[in-house]
Amino acid sequence: MRTVDDLRTILARIDGRGYKAYKDLQDAYAFPWFTLFIDHVQGDPFASPSKIRVRVPGAVAGLPTDLFSGRVRRVALQDFLIREVSHAIHARCQGNRGIGKSGLVAIDAGGQEVLERTAMVVAPEWVEARLSLGLPAQGRTILGRQAEAMLCRELPEIAERVMKWMSVDQERARTFVDCVDNQESIRRQLDSLGLVAFIADGSILPRVSGASDRPLSRERAHPFRTPDSLRLSIPVPHPVFQDGKLTDSLTGCGIPKGVTLIVGGGYHGKSTVLRALERGVYPHVPEDGREYVVTTERAVKIRAEDGRSIERVDISGFIKNLPYGQDTAKFSTDNASGSTSQAASIIEAVEVGATALLLDEDTSATNFMVRDARMQALVHKEHEPITPFVDRVRELYERHGVSTVLVMGGCGDYFDVADTVVAMQDYQPLDVTQEAQRIAREFRTQREIETTSPLSGITSRVPLWESLDSSRGKREVKIDARSVDAVVYGHEVIDLNGVEQLVDVSQTRAIGYALHLASSRSMKGGLQAVVQGLDKLFDDAGLDGLDPYHQGERHPGNFARPRTFEIAAALNRLRMLRTGE
Ligand code: ADP
Ligand code: MG
Repeated sequence: MRTVDDLRTILARIDGRGYKAYKDLQDAYAFPWFTLFIDHVQGDPFASPSKIRVRVPGAVAGLPTDLFSGRVRRVALQDFLIREVSHAIHARCQGNRGIGKSGLVAIDAGGQEVLERTAMVVAPEWVEARLSLGLPAQGRTILGRQAEAMLCRELPEIAERVMKWMSVDQERARTFVDCVDNQESIRRQLDSLGLVAFIADGSILPRVSGASDRPLSRERAHPFRTPDSLRLSIPVPHPVFQDGKLTDSLTGCGIPKGVTLIVGGGYHGKSTVLRALERGVYPHVPEDGREYVVTTERAVKIRAEDGRSIERVDISGFIKNLPYGQDTAKFSTDNASGSTSQAASIIEAVEVGATALLLDEDTSATNFMVRDARMQALVHKEHEPITPFVDRVRELYERHGVSTVLVMGGCGDYFDVADTVVAMQDYQPLDVTQEAQRIAREFRTQREIETTSPLSGITSRVPLWESLDSSRGKREVKIDARSVDAVVYGHEVIDLNGVEQLVDVSQTRAIGYALHLASSRSMKGGLQAVVQGLDKLFDDAGLDGLDPYHQGERHPGNFARPRTFEIAAALNRLRMLRTGE
């Protein structure tokens, strides 16, 4: 293995030469207490940055084993260290050192959610950070001294700050890991408590703005306060502060299984609660405000998404007798309407194992949600293909075990089918279940129930992998996440705008490659078996092997773990997908 002196010598030699000479750097270098791997050298200063790894022996890093024993704690510690590297980069690196990406040092750190990522590996033998780096140049000329400053000074400083336990802020690290552990412990308890979600008292749900996912300041935000009738307390493994007191159980609001309505006046905070529940499928960083808003991992947000494609989904429980006899038991379209898209998304979610649906009137198709008495009088059932959600929501729970949390400020017909009704008033929840039930009895809805037959069993579709083609031009595999909402798959761009629980572009990238992996292995079985098979692969082998061009023991690229539901959602939106039985 080369040494750090070799690195200096090479940099002095190639200083002032053409950019391609940087290729000579590709190798491993023994520094006094860590190893630097330069795995990939970019082709020019504007190309995607070079990929490097910094590997510290476990004995030198000295991380306490209890902080990374078990998957939950290991992922949390890794995530914490990634954030610390990111801070250290901002504090220590000069930044711009020439043209293009010259001087860039970056690690794939996430937002408010804590995710399993490829950017950091904590193992008993070593700790490894995977970084991107822009090797510096002026024009096409190598700036060797600048590169030396980055690789031989800035990088060791960052490693020194973050990858040695004695220099880490140990209390913050512990708080972070224990907090994530607590969240996952609550999640595991939800089912036996009969809940789909839990919102701890004192949680801060609103965000700074539509463009920032950080919490609204404590001065402006109204902390969540649970109505007495819904309050319960859940034990957590690590003591935590609530109401200024250290406690080993958290009190808060349990959202029961069944059908829950969130009602209330406009702008009183309804959608904010639902969005927190959507994100609650992931753990959050301490101080996020939603760290103790915990939702079952099998909750899926459903919204209308006209224009999406649908491939042979049985939406006949919601939509039947379309004009010109179009089949809705195996419904396919390249251009769904609001209602057909919403029906398909529900069936698809249940097909892969969703046990809770989250819906907001703001993003739902009105005609899918309800048809009131007057409309029923004007447009007869035989001319209306839709059986509205209000007539299926109880059946979904009672016969299929699928709960619903629904924001609905505009239609009282849902009082008849709700188990729990929470009103948001001045950003505070009130339990108005009994009042809503009384009103439902006193003011009988004049509408008629429109179901004529039960929801058919959810059939499992089998992806026909030969229908997927990830090639484009000369490239056999062209997959690229353009943003959190768009991933290039061969000739297609999968539009994931309607998949609202995707939170990170590295998840989107992982999904693109996961689809390719499933297809290249011709993974057997129905959609649920396929996405669960992928999830098991991630459990066993991590995310390092997702890129087919990746060779072992190198920087694997930036990936974050997606849920099975979002992988399925992307496949369902791939227009080239064909399925069989
Ligand atoms: P609704 O869905 O009831 O119309 P929203 O949830 O969209 O209302 O909230 C309206 C506004 O109030 C948003 O700007 C949101 O950030 C803010 N908001 C929501 N909850 C709170 C809260 N607990 N404290 C302070 N502001 C809040
Ligand atoms: Mg709203």
